[in-house]
Amino acid sequence: MRIAIPNKGRLSEESLKLFEKAGLRAQFRADRALVARLGSHFQAIFVRAQDIPEFVADGAAEFGITGADLVQENARPEVEELLDLGFGQCRLIVAVRDESPVQSPAELPEGTRVATSFPGLAKRYFASLGTAIRVVPVSGAAEIAPHLGVADVIVDLTSTGSTLRVNGLREVGTILDSSARLVANTKALEVDDARRVASDLTTALESVLRARRKRYLMSNVPRDRLDEVRRVLPGISGPTIVDVLDQGRWVAAHAVVDEDELYDTIARLKALGAEGILVTRIERLLP
Ligand code: AMP
Repeated sequence: MRIAIPNKGRLSEESLKLFEKAGLRAQFRADRALVARLGSHFQAIFVRAQDIPEFVADGAAEFGITGADLVQENARPEVEELLDLGFGQCRLIVAVRDESPVQSPAELPEGTRVATSFPGLAKRYFASLGTAIRVVPVSGAAEIAPHLGVADVIVDLTSTGSTLRVNGLREVGTILDSSARLVANTKALEVDDARRVASDLTTALESVLRARRKRYLMSNVPRDRLDEVRRVLPGISGPTIVDVLDQGRWVAAHAVVDEDELYDTIARLKALGAEGILVTRIERLLP
C-alpha cells in the first residue's frame, strides 16, 4: 500500500522521523527518488503537502500525511482523518492592517477582499458569519496584499505570529487550529485487509506519539514505605514492584511518569528515602 508523504517543507522531515520511530524506515534507491520503501509493508510516494489530499482522494495513495488545513480546504469526502500527529502546529487566521479599526472578523463588511491560498475555508468561514467575501487568490506571501491595496484582509497560516507583525498586520480571528494528520482513502478502508493495515499503522504511530512526553522511572525504595510510594508513582496500572536481593529491606519500583510530573515525583520519592533513581526515555507505548 502507498503512503503519500510531503517531499519538502515543514512536514517532511518530521513525517519521516515519526515513521522511522514506528519501525517503518524509508529506504531510498537513489538520491532525490520520489518513491521509497517504507518498512516492508508500504511504499512511500513523495509529493507536495498541498497535493496530498487530491492524491489520497483519487486513490493514488491509500494513506497520506498532510496538514489539517489542507485536508479541510479540499474537503473531499473520499479523504478521512485517522490520526492527529501533533507536529506542524499552526493556525489559519484572519489578519488586518495594523492601523485598521477592525477588532473581529464579524465587523468586516460584505464584499471584503480577502487575499488567501485557502479560498474554500475563507469563504465557508465568512459565510458562517453571514458575510459574502471576494477572494483574491494568492499562492504565497499573502501578507503584502493589504499593503498593495489589492486586498482588505488576509487569511493565512501562522504559528508564532511574527511574520504577520513584521509585515504590519494584526490578527483578529482564528478560523482553524491545524497540525499534521494521517489520512486515508475512505473507499480503500472498506476492504477488510486495508482496514486492518490502517489500524496497525495508526496503532504504531500512536504508540510513538504517546511515548513522547513520558519517561520510565526506576528507583529503589524502602519496603516499609511502599504504600506511600504507590501514591507517588501511579504508573499505568500501578507501579511495577521488583524484589532487590538484599534481605528484603529494599524493593525496586518502576513506573511510566509524565515528563511534566517528573520533577515533583523525584522530589517526593527522595523524601520517602528512595535511592538509585534512574529515568529513561520510552520509544513506544502501547497501553
Ligand atoms: P510547506 O508549505 O510544504 O512547508 O507545508 C505547509 C504546511 O505546513 C501547511 O499546510 C501547514 O499544515 C503546516 N505548517 C505548520 N506551520 C506552519 C506555518 N507557520 N506556516 C505555514 N504552514 C505551516
